[in-house]
Amino acid sequence: MSFHHVFEDKLKYKPDYKWPEKGSSKDCPKCSSPMELNEDKPSYYGKPWWCYKCQWQFSEEDFEELNAPEESGNLKK
Ligand SMILES: [Zn+2]
Repeated sequence: MSFHHVFEDKLKYKPDYKWPEKGSSKDCPKCSSPMELNEDKPSYYGKPWWCYKCQWQFSEEDFEELNAPEESGNLKK
């Protein structure tokens, strides 16, 4: 599986994502499939969560936004 094409432009620095505990599991908020948790390696610049079905990465911050109350009004179910 290759992630690098997705985040080509972010290779200049390592984003400071909040990393979930090892062994955590989560379902994709989009398709409800179990996601893979990537390892927090210095060489890895992507987000912690990976949904192979959506081919999309998620960070803990993304989930906080998705779970946030509808303040912005654009994330309704
Ligand atoms: Zn998904």
